[in-house]
Amino acid sequence: MNRPPRFIADEMNGDIARWLRIIGFDCKYLIGKEMDTKLIEIALDEDRVLLTSDKELFRKATLKGVETHYIPQGKLEDKLRSIIEKYNLNRYIDKVGYRCPICNQPLIRAEDISQVPEKVRLSHKTILHCPRCNKFYWKGSHWKKIKKVLLNAGLTNENVKKL
Ligand SMILES: [Zn+2]
Repeated sequence: MNRPPRFIADEMNGDIARWLRIIGFDCKYLIGKEMDTKLIEIALDEDRVLLTSDKELFRKATLKGVETHYIPQGKLEDKLRSIIEKYNLNRYIDKVGYRCPICNQPLIRAEDISQVPEKVRLSHKTILHCPRCNKFYWKGSHWKKIKKVLLNAGLTNENVKKL
C-alpha cells in the first residue's frame, strides 16, 4: 500500500481521530444516533479503515468487508500505538501534510497572520491555518507534551522530529 491509509472513527474514538490528524492522517469522525450503517457505508465508499471500540460494530463491519480495527479501552498511547503499528504509519509521515485536529481539513501555511498574537508571530517561523474553521496553529509550549505522547505511541524519533 503506497497511499497513506485513511480512517474513520466511531463516536468512542474522537481522541484518536484528533491524534491521527495531528500526525497528518485523514480521519473522519461522526457522532449521532444509528451511526453504524453510516460508518460502514462511508468506510466502504471512501476506502477508510474503521476504528471502533464496539465489538458488535467490529463484527458487522468486518462481515461487510470493511477493514476494521478494534480499539479496546485503555491508555491513549496504547490505543494510538496499536494503529501506528498495524498500519505502519511511520512510513507515511513524509507523505502526509498537516491536518486540522478539529475538522480534518488539510492545513495550509498562513498568509495573513494579522489575527495571530504578535508574540507568536515573532517567535514562530511557521504558522498554519485551517481554511475551514479559520483557526491558526503553531508549535507552542504544548508541543513538547505532544511529542512525548507520540514517542510513547510508537512514532519513531526521526518522524517526531519531522512533524
Ligand atoms: Zn479546521
